[in-house]
Amino acid sequence: MELELKDKVAVITGGSVGIGLAVAKGLAAEGVHLALCARDADRVKAVAAEIASTNGVQALGASVDVTNVHEVAAFVQQVAENFGGADILINNAGTGSNEKIMDAPDDKWQYYWDLHVMAAVRLARALVPAMHKRGGGVILNNASICAKQPLDYEPIYNVTKSALMMLSKCMSEEFIPDGIRVNCINPGLILTPDWIKTATQLTEGTGQTYQDYLDNIAKENTPIGRFGTPEELADFFVFLCSPRASYCVGATYYVDGGWLKVVA
Ligand code: NDP
Repeated sequence: MELELKDKVAVITGGSVGIGLAVAKGLAAEGVHLALCARDADRVKAVAAEIASTNGVQALGASVDVTNVHEVAAFVQQVAENFGGADILINNAGTGSNEKIMDAPDDKWQYYWDLHVMAAVRLARALVPAMHKRGGGVILNNASICAKQPLDYEPIYNVTKSALMMLSKCMSEEFIPDGIRVNCINPGLILTPDWIKTATQLTEGTGQTYQDYLDNIAKENTPIGRFGTPEELADFFVFLCSPRASYCVGATYYVDGGWLKVVA
């Protein structure tokens, strides 16, 4: 299938590792130019340079904390100067949490609200006008299965990802008259380096390998019995970015090996 993505421009938050990196590589393979951001400057710049040289696309790597309104504004300015705007926005930066509602302070709630919701609001607000002028575009918000099916150790993550899912629906209705398709993706267990690091730490000295630990999690939770790879998930992102997904609007798609236990 020809995805008709060549020479489009994509902004990807958290594009330096894990899912964001896999999506960046998937889009670059289709000839999409990239503006990647993440906090760790060295890593995001190195990744952008590597993708640019491998795929013959332009790739900007910018050090940005997406919870910081000024850094987001400066990044949008860089995107405008380098590319004149963007056709695709992927709100992917995010991370899990660990707390109980009775213990978590307000500033923790605020941080995750800024990370998972306000970053997407601010980037969309800043990028949509140029996207419209360029003939339309695509926004994908990477939430989580936890937006619908919460994990008990991370209420702040569950709540803010749920808000991102609703934000996607609201954005889709507001932006579709401008030719901008917004969708939300809720991944399940995706084997990123962070999972491996955590599993390695948790199994150290226990006699169990990190692979066995992860296998058990996957078998206990998912009908498919395994983690997904970032690349398997990225293929779906790339398709949704394509004009070939032209009738996909305002939906939330689960890519979770069957983990979701309700019909949604
Ligand atoms: P990783 O931890 O592997 O990558 C997260 C990315 O986001 C990194 O590039 C990181 O770079 C960046 N990032 C984190 N915080 C900020 C910030 N404040 N400002 C800018 N960039 C930031 O995560 P995954 O790839 O696993 O997850 C990506 C998204 O997918 C997240 O939103 C996560 O909630 C979601 N998800 C993941 C699942 C999984 O199983 N892996 C399942 C369901 C959803 P840096 O640290 O340099 O800032």
